[in-house]
Amino acid sequence: MAILEIRRFGDPVLRQTCKKIPVIDESIQQLIDDMIETMRANHGVGLAAPQVGVPIRLTVIELRDGTEPYVLINPEILKRRGKRIVTEGCLSLPGWFGDVVRSESIVFRARDRRGREYKMSATDLLAQAVEHEVDHLNGILFTDPGRLVSPDTLHKAPARGELPVEAEEPEATPVA
Ligand SMILES: [Zn+2]
Repeated sequence: MAILEIRRFGDPVLRQTCKKIPVIDESIQQLIDDMIETMRANHGVGLAAPQVGVPIRLTVIELRDGTEPYVLINPEILKRRGKRIVTEGCLSLPGWFGDVVRSESIVFRARDRRGREYKMSATDLLAQAVEHEVDHLNGILFTDPGRLVSPDTLHKAPARGELPVEAEEPEATPVA
């Protein structure tokens, strides 16, 4: 496994509409393992393939609650219900957070790393992460109009360790 370089805001690969994955071969398995390692090394909840420079429809999500990471190949959001405002970040814009409109709940479909299709409903952080990651696959970032509630909410948070824990972003999720 390897920790991959995360592409930053401004890199054109983050603006591509990613291609569907037709065959889950050995190179995809390797990429999944590397993406999980890269996500963990960067303390993210999720990571999309374009963020490591590969414009294909693959994302990984890990909620850090002891459950296995989710692998979403060719994911599709089938239903969205409700709206809520959450403070969100992105590994491609390190340190930046903003208030974003996300769904209360979603239903999505994807394939796992063995190619098996699964359908799930999700709320809370998982729903937020899936919406954030699927946005990446469509070249959309959380700072885009239509996602950010207002540009005024965008702010830079202090780096880890600069302030006591209680002064860190209480609601912020460095999603991916
Ligand atoms: Zn992101």
